[in-house]
Amino acid sequence: MSLGSLTARDRVGLQDFVLLEAYTSESAFLENLRKRFHENLIYTYIGTLLVSVNPYKELGIYTKKQMDIYMGVNLFELPPHIYALADNVYRTMLTESNNHFILISGESGAGKTEASKKILQFYAVSCPSTKLMDNVRDRLLLSNPVLEAFGNAKTLKNDNSSRFGKYMDIQFDHVGGAVGGHILSYLLEKSRVVHQNHGERNFHIFYQLVEGGEEDLLRWLGLQRNCQQYSYLVQGECAKVSSINDKTDWKTVRKALTVIEFSESNVESLFAIIASVLHLGNVKFIADSRGYATLNSSPEIHWLSKLLGIPTQVIQVGLTHRKIAARSEEVLSPFTIDHAVYARDALAKAIYGRTFTWLVNMLNESLANKDSSRKTVIGLLDIYGFEVFNVNSFEQFCINYCNEKLQQLFIQLTLKSEQEEYEMEGIEWEPVPYFNNKIICDLVEEKFKGIIAVLDEECLRPGEATDMTFLEKLEEKMAGHPHFITHKLADQKTRKTLERGDFRLLHYAGEVTYCVDHVLTIFHLQVMRQSKNAIVQLCFPTTEPDSKKRPETVATQFKSSLVGLTEILMSKEPWYVRCIKPNEGKQPGSFDDVLVRHQVKYLGLMEHLRVRRAGFAYRRRYQIFLQRYKPLCPDTWPNWKGTAAEGVQCLVKHLGFKPDEYKMGRTKIFIRHPRTLFATEDAFEV
Ligand code: ATP
Ligand code: MG
Repeated sequence: MSLGSLTARDRVGLQDFVLLEAYTSESAFLENLRKRFHENLIYTYIGTLLVSVNPYKELGIYTKKQMDIYMGVNLFELPPHIYALADNVYRTMLTESNNHFILISGESGAGKTEASKKILQFYAVSCPSTKLMDNVRDRLLLSNPVLEAFGNAKTLKNDNSSRFGKYMDIQFDHVGGAVGGHILSYLLEKSRVVHQNHGERNFHIFYQLVEGGEEDLLRWLGLQRNCQQYSYLVQGECAKVSSINDKTDWKTVRKALTVIEFSESNVESLFAIIASVLHLGNVKFIADSRGYATLNSSPEIHWLSKLLGIPTQVIQVGLTHRKIAARSEEVLSPFTIDHAVYARDALAKAIYGRTFTWLVNMLNESLANKDSSRKTVIGLLDIYGFEVFNVNSFEQFCINYCNEKLQQLFIQLTLKSEQEEYEMEGIEWEPVPYFNNKIICDLVEEKFKGIIAVLDEECLRPGEATDMTFLEKLEEKMAGHPHFITHKLADQKTRKTLERGDFRLLHYAGEVTYCVDHVLTIFHLQVMRQSKNAIVQLCFPTTEPDSKKRPETVATQFKSSLVGLTEILMSKEPWYVRCIKPNEGKQPGSFDDVLVRHQVKYLGLMEHLRVRRAGFAYRRRYQIFLQRYKPLCPDTWPNWKGTAAEGVQCLVKHLGFKPDEYKMGRTKIFIRHPRTLFATEDAFEV
């Protein structure tokens, strides 16, 4: 059969899995995705959920013209597009005056951040605007390059990988103008500041500064224009990346900082900190006759002192000693070389991490909506995808735990709640089975029993607890759990692939082996409190509870922040973009079946499709439905007397709904296909 004789549908596949009958198997699902991908059709719907496959090339589908086409059009009237989803969320927010969020998920490199930027750009163009709103819009758009410079890095999976989770609220006034924004950031991967795996880089901003920074600035910061000079920049041996132009990116970031109204002195303090981290990374220790760490009076100490505004002497002592409380006084105990290196790196991470938090706070001040009148929001959640590396550390543990939580939320909001609702409303329903990952969430977070609780307990025994005692405790508590394995607990076959210091979790998305090295860390703050650098002073306040009072562990803080996030999301209407990575090589035109199949599986797309196909796309409470559509039946209203349910029954009869198009529940009407509702909406215009 020649290509010419294929029908359009044969060639380009189906644009919504739900509406068409033949596609229920995983293979058919994949075939449809592949077909569309090869036709450069990267978007496909499952009802209102948008599946996006990364094309790894520019498609010319994000023009102003495309935006205009999608503005104000019903979701299913045009080919699937991220703009269609964005527009639909926006319009629903305006008609229903409620809050929404768009959860963008997928693994590293699948296109989450690009999707979130496309949505933001769409709103920037499509929303009504005034001078004030233009200002907000520019700031919203420019917050992206700033955050990406400080929070993104080249990894093996993605040249612009987000190394933090981001939730951004866009606030709209009652006529739909963007009037403000707010960003929450989650767990920046600070270990990258001091160490990068082979083929990876540190955060972009370091390279941008060294490559793009003006001569005067570099001189003032004591930096040379050569990344190879800086130990923290060359661990991965790939300071240069062909897809990245650090010089132009530097210009963009500098300009963005100005528009966002960072004062010159703040910008200076900010880059003084970035430069200090580079100098700190170059500090070398030599052993004295007793094997303790000492410092040469190296130029690095001079620059650190100058840039951070801390006396040289304090820095020197701070980098080579720790203070320990002995009876009533504090004594200085010298570091060995290993300790000194560890403490230096911990300090670099702390400085960078806190500066990042400061930066997010500054962006939020700049985005804050000054007007307190009622507003609705659309939240964009672009959070790191599930990650598996050869060596997975504590940070991967947190990232994957976060993915488990979001999967749990997805299950609760779609699969579980959907099915429970049918039951509650007395709608006949064939239950769809799905894997509920609650068991894994509990394994990590359960009070007193979970992995985080064990970690907290171990952190309460400073001095005695080690990475290995932590592992032993885990083995004791988790023995027999179907999703937890260590070398000791493994069967003969699995044991071969597990090191003694590792534990393995069977996540919903696959197995990951974590190395427990350095899970128990210490922080060292006193030196930084003496700084004259304005940002450092804010980042290391003197009132902070110090090491005598146990601070929460990072894991517990992270857990609380995820609980907070879940609460934020639960109070809003959910929308989903599921991003898929077509191949591991960042190649356009290549579709790796095995890789895609795995993602389709763990993103829960088949289950979602089954629930959607068997179910009802729309549902409305009788009162609300009646309120909205009764003008379409003017003969009966306003003289109607009866219950809302009877009213709706009368209304749908008048509108000519066929019996299989809708069902009447206890409190709501359920409508099978979106097109039925659209037809009803369209009736308003006739
Ligand atoms: P991570 O979890 O690592 O942050 P991510 O899912 O955010 O990954 P992105 O940074 O959005 O991934 O995408 C990776 C790269 O893929 C982009 O830099 C871009 O080159 C390409 N890409 C993603 N989406 C698109 C798209 N819609 N059109 C063209 N290229 C895209
Ligand atoms: Mg990203």
